[in-house]
Amino acid sequence: NTQIIFSKIPTTFPEVGEHMTIKHDTIDLEAELPENHYIVKTLTLSVDPYMRGRMRAAGTKSYSPAFDLDKPMAGHTVGVIVKSNNDKFKVDDIVYGIGHFAEYTHVPAQLAFLFTPRNEARESGLPLSNYIGVLGMPGMTAYVGLIKFGKPKKGETLYVSAASGAVGQLVGQIGKVLGLHVVGSAGSDEKVAYLKEIGFDGAFNYKTEDTNAKLTELCPNGIDIYFENVGGKMLENVINHSNNFGRIVCCGMISQYNTTNPEPIHNLIQIVSKRLRIEGFIVGEHPEMEADFRKDVTQWLKDGVIQYRETAAEGIESAPQALIDVLKGKNFGKQVVNIASL
Ligand code: NDP
Repeated sequence: NTQIIFSKIPTTFPEVGEHMTIKHDTIDLEAELPENHYIVKTLTLSVDPYMRGRMRAAGTKSYSPAFDLDKPMAGHTVGVIVKSNNDKFKVDDIVYGIGHFAEYTHVPAQLAFLFTPRNEARESGLPLSNYIGVLGMPGMTAYVGLIKFGKPKKGETLYVSAASGAVGQLVGQIGKVLGLHVVGSAGSDEKVAYLKEIGFDGAFNYKTEDTNAKLTELCPNGIDIYFENVGGKMLENVINHSNNFGRIVCCGMISQYNTTNPEPIHNLIQIVSKRLRIEGFIVGEHPEMEADFRKDVTQWLKDGVIQYRETAAEGIESAPQALIDVLKGKNFGKQVVNIASL
């Protein structure tokens, strides 16, 4: 059972072999399991920016707990039950939940809630990896963030940063379904071309083009909703282009995750003059929207109303580099790591 271990706390970008290391141990699939235990074989694994925040010292507070040093890292996975002594999980069930960065996760009784069955994945015709992306935590983040916190009204202008990523590409497409004028930015010309292909009204490369000039050009009526994924200078720019009563939905600030010296924002006075609402949210705190999210997004996918791009790495050993790639913007669309097939 190959695992990825959190082996050292990083101060900037984590590195393979130093902060994340590979370890092999054995898992006995023949041995009898204690009551309510079960074993999940990982099929596909999600690597997400928030995992960088979990690579910190124990005891420091945040919305998700620090990874334990010298223990396997963990994240959203789709897996299949290969052994069970738990009535709720049958062998061959497809499940979704928090598993180890490992080929197998032995789930003890007290953590049995970490997975839920997703057997519909067999019949849906959708790739299993969709269940950790567009139909998993990142998809739900887009849905909750835009609908509940963005409070969109038809005809308004939505601007999304990191727009071609796991969350951003869905935010923009939901924005189109809801009748918004949608603009996005991303870090390469290929990503920008993709945004236009999937229906964004405007898109630009924030690395090679001037953000202020592009926001003036592409958002002629100003910005009503900013779906914030990156923070830093981008946030400062957007505040300058925000309309009165604009909503800035703070989903993430990835540009600040690997720095010890966060960038200051100089124009916060406009929160008052423009009566802006700047609000953060954490997806896991909105389970009441899950049923609607899964119903709507499954339907949009099946009807071809939305598309969803993924980048796949292969094999558990590639998980650490895949996570670093996400933090450095090398992923194009949702980054997944395929571990095994059904
Ligand atoms: P993505 O798939 O968008 O991958 C991250 C992307 O961020 C990169 O591809 C890169 O795209 C961009 N990026 C990286 N570094 C920088 C930088 N310095 N400045 C600007 N952009 C950068 O990730 P997700 O869609 O999974 O996550 C997007 C955001 O949502 C993150 O901030 C994440 O933390 C947050 N999040 C929040 C949740 C919540 O509950 N609040 C839940 C899930 C995610 P590019 O090439 O375009 O620069």
